[in-house]
Amino acid sequence: MKIVFHLGKRSPDYRSLMREQGDFEVDGRIVSPSSLVIAEQTHSNLVHICSKEDSGAGLGGKPQISIADGFVTDVPNQFLLIRTADCTPVILFDPIKLVVAAVHSGREGTRKNISGEACRIMKENFGCTTTDIIAYIGAGICHKHYEVSEAVYDEYNASMLAMGLNPVTSLHRHIDIRAGIFQQLIQSGLPFKNIENVLDCTFENEDYHSYRREGSHNRQINLVGIVYE
Ligand SMILES: [Zn+2]
Repeated sequence: MKIVFHLGKRSPDYRSLMREQGDFEVDGRIVSPSSLVIAEQTHSNLVHICSKEDSGAGLGGKPQISIADGFVTDVPNQFLLIRTADCTPVILFDPIKLVVAAVHSGREGTRKNISGEACRIMKENFGCTTTDIIAYIGAGICHKHYEVSEAVYDEYNASMLAMGLNPVTSLHRHIDIRAGIFQQLIQSGLPFKNIENVLDCTFENEDYHSYRREGSHNRQINLVGIVYE
């Protein structure tokens, strides 16, 4: 068995997937919708532990996993799907224990430390050793293009400071989501060398859907799963 993952660009996109609900190709691999797990994504820090029965959630007549923004699974042939367009996707996996996770870490998810929550579940519920966990922080809006109101800025900074992290950027009222997630992963016990970054800014780079640039309701799809090869 091996772990495969995909950090999405414009295509294949979430809207087409929902419309067609058929097999689709990702990085040369055919993925069946019945193997996907899709959550409601409510900007929470709630991470759902998947069972085999969750496969297909969010497709056909099967409801999405409610009030969750992340998943952890060790079920083979199940793909965790996180959709994003400026929010940052994070993929986590333990290649020793064969456990995978995917989270939606926008401003609110980051403020509530959803990445740390996924690491905690991998450790406590699945017996993962945090120094074995590999993380990919996918493309999201960069701090230069992410200016927020004073109230939002203050709330975000207060939350990050309360968890012992440093939210400060060189620009006034700008939030650096990637730096926040990175610090949360380090705080969770991941080694620096285990954290990979896709440094593209979705606002700047037209290879991506961007809510702030184009008001898009379409999304990148980000996937991780354990497959037989
Ligand atoms: Zn940018």
